[in-house]
Amino acid sequence: MADEKTRYHIDSRLAQIGSVDDPVTGAVSYPIYQATAFRHPALGKSTGFDYSRTKNPTRAVLEAAIADLEGGDGGVACTTGMAALQVVFSLFSQGDHIIVSLDLYGGTYRLIEKVFGRFGITATYVDTNDLAALERSKQANTKAVFIETPTNPLMMITDLRAVSNWAKQHGLLTIVDNTLLTPYFQRPLELGADVVVHSGTKYLGGHNDVLAGLVVSKGAELTEQIGFLNNAMGTVLGAHDSWLLMRGMKTLALRMERHQQNATAVAKFLQTHPLVEHVYYPALEHHPGHAIQAGQTSGNTGIFSFKIKSGAYVEAILRHIKLIAFAESLGGVESLMTYPMVQTHSNIPEEIRNAIGVDEKLLRISCGIEHADDLIADLAQAFAAAQAELG
Ligand SMILES: *Cc1c(COP(=O)(O)O)cnc(C)c1O
Repeated sequence: MADEKTRYHIDSRLAQIGSVDDPVTGAVSYPIYQATAFRHPALGKSTGFDYSRTKNPTRAVLEAAIADLEGGDGGVACTTGMAALQVVFSLFSQGDHIIVSLDLYGGTYRLIEKVFGRFGITATYVDTNDLAALERSKQANTKAVFIETPTNPLMMITDLRAVSNWAKQHGLLTIVDNTLLTPYFQRPLELGADVVVHSGTKYLGGHNDVLAGLVVSKGAELTEQIGFLNNAMGTVLGAHDSWLLMRGMKTLALRMERHQQNATAVAKFLQTHPLVEHVYYPALEHHPGHAIQAGQTSGNTGIFSFKIKSGAYVEAILRHIKLIAFAESLGGVESLMTYPMVQTHSNIPEEIRNAIGVDEKLLRISCGIEHADDLIADLAQAFAAAQAELG
């Protein structure tokens, strides 16, 4: 950025990611340093770059950008969101316990239970917005609270100020998966959290074309430890993918505004449709987390869920959508629809799924940046076709 002293709006900082004053070429887009090793000027001297697992110039620009956007002391970029979560959970040791949001991303649940569980790390799953439930699940060996807000798919909201405050009083870390809102709409570190983790694959990348993960933290010791883990475990993002992610992030502000606008329009349409039983979207006033969400974010995500009156319609609806693709993932410019019970959340045991309401009636939509009228028309025709078949 031209003037380092000016604190620009987040839209400007996003657009200018990697646009450094390069004295040699003047390149406006940051170069891809596709090199694993860097020459040493002399014995005992380094350019600051030795080996790309430890530090790569392209990745370093991305890491500085995400740390700045989230308001953290440092950031690391990882191969996937799951790799970023692996780095975060590696902060813990055998015998440690964590408290985790109940309606959790399926892959995170699998990582905790099937991998870290084997190394003696245990977790209790609760509604993290329920302070009494947090209090009840706290053990002598509890080290952290891990939060998704909103959760996916049911859009449960956690009061980040209240929970990080509670966690601080008990000496616990607060870790937030901020994938669904991105720093454009929500900055958990400013609300008291210690660590933020992202699947960069989703809104930050934004084009359904790159896998990436990011971790941002506050505090020198924690930040150093996370950097150490990313290098020690070798979970680092490659130079080319780092560049692709930055390329996507430059338009994050525009995309998030459009995702929100489209999701709000689609949610309002669904709310009035006779085939729809319930819409789970925090922007709607009936949503139980509406007020908390409004108090800690500057906008809403583009993904949400809804329940069809009967699970019998689901197969036909998924077969009849045309513009909206029947596919997993979320956060890209293209709209996608999934069936959480059999796709994203199949790793979660049935009793947990039923307790939170991820059942045969639940569909999830990630609204892209197409025209809202086309998304609504696509859903309307798919519902009509399903009703014509099934009555
Ligand atoms: C997708 C996702 C992840 C995992 O990220 P990958 O990039 O797929 O490894 C973690 N958390 C949330 C909320 C996600 O949506």
